[in-house]
Amino acid sequence: MSITREQYNLIQREYDRRRLRVRHDLEARIKKAEELIPALKEINGRIASASVSYAKLSLSKESVDFEELQVLNHALALEKESLLKANNLPADYLKPHYYCALCKDTGIAGSGYCRCFKQAVVELLYSQSFLRQRLREENFSTFCFDYYENIKNPLHPEQKTPYENIKEVVGRCQAYIKNFPYSCENILIYGKTGVGKTFLSNCIAKELLDQGNTVIYLSAPQLFEIIESHKFSKAQEEAKESAETKMRYILDCDLLIIDDLGTEFNNSFISSQLYYCINERFLRQKSTLISTNLSFEEIRKNYSDRIYSRLFHDYMPVKIYGDDIRIKKVLL
Ligand SMILES: [Zn+2]
Repeated sequence: MSITREQYNLIQREYDRRRLRVRHDLEARIKKAEELIPALKEINGRIASASVSYAKLSLSKESVDFEELQVLNHALALEKESLLKANNLPADYLKPHYYCALCKDTGIAGSGYCRCFKQAVVELLYSQSFLRQRLREENFSTFCFDYYENIKNPLHPEQKTPYENIKEVVGRCQAYIKNFPYSCENILIYGKTGVGKTFLSNCIAKELLDQGNTVIYLSAPQLFEIIESHKFSKAQEEAKESAETKMRYILDCDLLIIDDLGTEFNNSFISSQLYYCINERFLRQKSTLISTNLSFEEIRKNYSDRIYSRLFHDYMPVKIYGDDIRIKKVLL
């Protein structure tokens, strides 16, 4: 993982803060529970004194039956659990509530870095700390179907209403999340401005982040800025290395979201780099989600045939239509 020592320390400090918060949170819950259920304090005392006596025994005797201690501890733990239950407290009330249960907020899982650590690197490298805040507001639990009219278009009575369509779209996206990463599917969300494409991308990003995947969210202009600096960086070694690291994550993260494709300044270089990026991720079996105002016809016109072909054949098309939600929000 090539990040600078300074970046590494910054992330480690965040992990220190997390562990501290978890510890304080646990201590506060223990205090509260012991006030509510005095018997808990007594059980905790028995657990502590049993451990001390066995430790002493193990120093004075050659063989000590630690199985006995385990049985005793288990019985006391069950007793605690039933006391919690009787007082309407959850069974894990007296256990630490880690940010990441996999690594217990150490950043290390097994013989390498935990998935949460990799996401922390991504968020630092691409200044994505805004993402978490945005995803707290924009996710499936805040998704509002009411913005989509349930009225047929008289010119196209065979077409689903915007409401029926978005219901189906959300269902397909949820199935995509459920199968992630095994299906290695890619998504192309398209539709006019203001129909909720970015909101839907955020919903997907939130679910996949919560599952512990690495997600990078970039607008098309941001993505191409990184690619350009990677290709043409004549800067010092350090800046070059940083561009290389960023590029590596772009090609390798579990989900890359390219928001608003078509808003970048387009030329043949951009087009070839876009192909390189989506093709490379395709070969590595990593999912990419692209949102755009462009129709398939416009994609064919604005980009190369091979990009069109890749998107047409290997991306799940998700069309959203309806009124401009931004205008609706003002009017409602
Ligand atoms: Zn972790």
